[in-house]
Amino acid sequence: MKGDTVLVTGGTGYIGSHTTVELIEAGFKVIIADNLSNSKEGVLDDIEKITGVRPAFYREDCTDRKNFGKIFKENGIDAVIHFAASKAVGESVREPLKYYGNNLLSLMNLIGLMMENGVGNIVFSSSCTVYGQPKVLPATEESPRLEATSPYGNTKRICEDILRDSITAYGNFRGIALRYFNPIGAHPSALIGELPNGVPNNLVPYITQTAIGKLECLSIFGDDYDTPDGSCIRDYIDVVDLSKAHVAALNRMLDGKSEKPYEVYNIGTGRGVSTLEIVKAFEKVNGLKLNYKITGRRKGDIEAIWGDPSKANRELGWKASRPLSETLRSAWAWEKHLASLEK
Ligand code: UDP
Repeated sequence: MKGDTVLVTGGTGYIGSHTTVELIEAGFKVIIADNLSNSKEGVLDDIEKITGVRPAFYREDCTDRKNFGKIFKENGIDAVIHFAASKAVGESVREPLKYYGNNLLSLMNLIGLMMENGVGNIVFSSSCTVYGQPKVLPATEESPRLEATSPYGNTKRICEDILRDSITAYGNFRGIALRYFNPIGAHPSALIGELPNGVPNNLVPYITQTAIGKLECLSIFGDDYDTPDGSCIRDYIDVVDLSKAHVAALNRMLDGKSEKPYEVYNIGTGRGVSTLEIVKAFEKVNGLKLNYKITGRRKGDIEAIWGDPSKANRELGWKASRPLSETLRSAWAWEKHLASLEK
């Protein structure tokens, strides 16, 4: 609640920076810990431009328990939101030990430090990847978690288990895992957004980089799926809406409203949108033509997934509200902002 101090690991990253803005605007004091492995310190300036407040910043790696632990000693922390993790699916297949090492150890250190320092609340950044290809759609929190298709996906599942088991065993803290669907878009100010490292893997940054001419042509991975237009279906959630879900989850814990010590919520729109629909909507709302071609399927892709967010709507009092058109406009505004910085 207002005035509480939140440690945001990975707070200069894509979702971390947007969540930091929402936290500050909701009256929280934010401390960011980030090793800057996939983000830039300049994001702090942009957060300050948007909110008028510069969050405290520690350049630390959560796997380095000793140095990371200093943040707890030097501050009175009420809650943690844990984003810091490696997240590239393809890289995780090539370098599984990096992913297991980084993602699991970071969370284990964090839980240990929270217990040592009496910090009782954590929001964990999980993913709909834990559902694999659900047999029944939309996916609910009760849908079975299936065998992960990548080491990255497996770390999300194992991290959920580490958190659940620790809360059950040690009993002196609470946690909420938020299972994100596909976060897209940028802050309406266009000052913060997604900064992909190298050629993007994800659809929307690939689209915006193609539109601006950084990339030549978007490949649509398959139009022969068993879906209405043959392309894959996802539940695209606006990053600002997603960020607000973190504030709602924190408030649930800090206000003592959690019904169970460990809770899980789907964070999505409840609507499935195909790859081709995204491309067409992007062209329409931004008044441009995108260079794209249909190519073969991408290995490991899920055909269709969207989530049922009604538990989050009901219990967190949160609902996705930004229309897809606005989200796609914000993604384009952000790409143009980046291009203007490069000039
Ligand atoms: N996609 C695509 N071309 C790209 C990147 C993604 O057609 O260059 C498709 C991909 O096959 C999937 C959807 O866009 O159906 C979302 O992909 P993304 O990698 O963003 O998310 P994820 O597959 O992890 O849900």
